[in-house]
Amino acid sequence: MIKAVIFDLDNTLVDFMAMKDAAIESAVLAMTDAGLKIPKQKAKEKIYKIYDEEGIEDQKVFDKFLTKEFGNIDYRIHAAGIIGYRRAREAALVLYPHVHLTLMELVKRGLKLAVVSDAPRLQAWLRLCQLNLHHIFDVVITYEDTNKRKPDPEPFKNALQQLQIEAEEAIMVGDWAERDIVGAKLIGMKTVFARYGDRFDTVNSGADYEIDDVIKILDIVDELSTK
Ligand SMILES: [Mg+2]
Repeated sequence: MIKAVIFDLDNTLVDFMAMKDAAIESAVLAMTDAGLKIPKQKAKEKIYKIYDEEGIEDQKVFDKFLTKEFGNIDYRIHAAGIIGYRRAREAALVLYPHVHLTLMELVKRGLKLAVVSDAPRLQAWLRLCQLNLHHIFDVVITYEDTNKRKPDPEPFKNALQQLQIEAEEAIMVGDWAERDIVGAKLIGMKTVFARYGDRFDTVNSGADYEIDDVIKILDIVDELSTK
């Protein structure tokens, strides 16, 4: 009997990379307007390189970019970049199609909902609040809640414990096979690979199910409930 569905956040519920791309594009244009003299594509590549080295959630990426390029920070350019980033981020942070509908349907069916994310706590909550999802989840586990990243069992176990259910009673949905699927499987949860969010051209996800649209979760829940 399935009692809860646990979702990864970024690239599973939220189209995170689409948001990131739009925000960086807008930031570079704003910095160029403020006096940055690096071609747009080059500047974007350099910023993404910093993200690769420091992590995609790095909050000081423009400081590091400007310091690296010029040895100091021109605050006219820096501030313009931050404003450009924020403006686009607000507009570009969206849910994948059918996420809202699927969550509502799951709630109607009496299932509990949770998020298990490796994102920093504040960033995860900012995204949830902006998307008006902050009341729908019974449990939200972020990086600081366990200080462990998936596939470590700890964040999954923490979610199950707070949901007061067993691993076999939960489905984990995620876009990152090595983290979401491996971790959840390890402790005995059913797993669903969100292929629509895959950025690694994953061939074999190892998941029990694969979906191209989040709404397919409803069929999976129905199927598992009749077993
Ligand atoms: Mg993800």
